[in-house]
Amino acid sequence: MASGKNGPSETVLVLGGGIGGVVAANRLRRRLDRRHRVILVNRYPDFTFAASFLWVMSGKRQPSQVTRSLQVLKRRGIEVVIGDIENIDPVTRIITVEGKQLTADHLVVSLGADYSTDTIPGLQQAGETFATLDGAQRLAGAVKAVAQGRVLIVTASPLYRCPAAPYEAALLIDAVLRRKAMRGKVDIVVHSAEPGPMGVAGANVSAAVTGILAKRGIDYHPSHQITSAEAGHAQFADGKSETFDMLVYMPPIRLPAVVASSPLAGVTGWIDVDRNTLATEFPRVYAIGDNTQIPLSIGKPLPRAGVFAHAQALVVADNIAARIKGRPASSAFDGHGGCFIETGFGKAGYGSGDFYAEPSPAVTIRPPSRRRHLGKVVFEYNVMKRWL
Ligand SMILES: Cc1cc2nc3c(=O)[nH]c(=O)nc-3n(C[C@H](O)[C@H](O)[C@H](O)COP(=O)(O)OP(=O)(O)OC[C@H]3O[C@@H](n4cnc5c(N)ncnc54)[C@H](O)[C@@H]3O)c2cc1C
Repeated sequence: MASGKNGPSETVLVLGGGIGGVVAANRLRRRLDRRHRVILVNRYPDFTFAASFLWVMSGKRQPSQVTRSLQVLKRRGIEVVIGDIENIDPVTRIITVEGKQLTADHLVVSLGADYSTDTIPGLQQAGETFATLDGAQRLAGAVKAVAQGRVLIVTASPLYRCPAAPYEAALLIDAVLRRKAMRGKVDIVVHSAEPGPMGVAGANVSAAVTGILAKRGIDYHPSHQITSAEAGHAQFADGKSETFDMLVYMPPIRLPAVVASSPLAGVTGWIDVDRNTLATEFPRVYAIGDNTQIPLSIGKPLPRAGVFAHAQALVVADNIAARIKGRPASSAFDGHGGCFIETGFGKAGYGSGDFYAEPSPAVTIRPPSRRRHLGKVVFEYNVMKRWL
C-alpha cells in the first residue's frame, strides 16, 4: 500500500463501539485527513459506559446518563455502521455485517467479551448482575427495596471484566443499606471464585481490599467457585451451599462468538497480540481491550479494564496513522494503568502501577478518599463527553 501525503485513500475499520473502539476511531479521525475513511461498526446504536453501571445500581446515575448514541461520531467524520458482525477474515481484512461486506486496509478489533453466564446452571434465573445496564437498573430497584435477609454476591469465574467491580458492588450495596439504616438487618456475603480481590495487582492490594470489606462487616469467602443456583440457594464446587434472599453476580466471560469462529482466536482462547503494539499475527490487523489476552510475568493475564482498552486504542490509532503517512510507527503500550475502587459515601481508592513490571506487576493502592472518587467522575466525563 502506497503511503505518504499524496498516497491513495485508505480505509480503517474499527470493530466494536465500546471504549476501545470509540477511542480508536476518534483518535484516527484526528490524526488522518479526510481523504482516509474511518468506519466504526457496532451491534447496537448506543455506547454504554460499563464503569458507571455500579452507580446505576446504587441509584447515583440514571441509565440515560451513561448512554450515548454512536451517531454523534458522524459529526466528526467517522462513518458509523450499526449491525451484527457475522464474519471476520483477518487475511483479506474483509468483514461481513448482516450480509454486507466491508474491506479494510487496516483493521482494529475491539469487540469486548461475551458473558457466559450459561456455564453456571440457574445463575441467570436465580440472580441478577450489575454487569449489564438492564441488570444494574433492575438491581437499583431491588437494592432500594431490601429491608432484611441475606445478600449473596459471587464472582462466577476467576476471569471477568474489571477485577474491582464485584468488590465495589458489595461496598456500594453496604453503603445504600447503611444510608437507609437497614444494614443491621441485612447480611452481605461475598464468595469469589478467585483466591483474593484484584490478585493480579499483588498481595498488598488484595489485602487492602479484603481489609476494607472486613471493616464494613462484609463476610468474604475466597476461592469458592459457585457451580449452580436456584431460588434462594447456591451450590459451590466444594459441596457447600449458601442460602440467599438476593443473589448478585459478576458473570464469567468468553471470546465474542464472531471472533471465536475466526482465525483470530489464538492459543490463549482469546486474541493473541504483541503486548506493546497490539499487532496480531495478521498484517495490519490489531486487537485491543477485552477481546485480547496479554499474559503477565505472574502467569495471570492483564486485567480486562477500560483504562487499558483506552490506552491501547491510542497506541494503535497513532501507529496506523503514522504508517498511512509513511512515518515510523513508534507508539507503544507500556502496561501502566490504574483502577478506581468505589467504596461508597462519595469515596474511592485507587490501585495503579506498572502491570508489565518484572518479576511481578508493581501496583500500589491508595486509600479511599473524596478526591479519588472525583477522579472516577472525571474518567466518566472524559469518555462520555470527550470521545462521544
Ligand atoms: C460493572 C463493570 C464495571 C467496570 N468498571 C470499570 C472501571 O471502573 N474502570 C475500568 O477501567 N474498567 C471498568 N470495567 C471494564 C470495562 O468496561 C471494559 O474493560 C471495557 O469496556 C473494554 O472495552 P472494549 O472496547 O474492549 O469492549 P466493550 O466496551 O465491551 O465494547 C465491545 C463492543 O463490541 C460490540 N460487539 C461485540 N460483538 C459484536 C458483533 N458480533 N457485532 C457488532 N458489534 C459487536 C459490543 O456490542 C460492544 O459495544 C467495568 C466493567 C463492568 C462490567
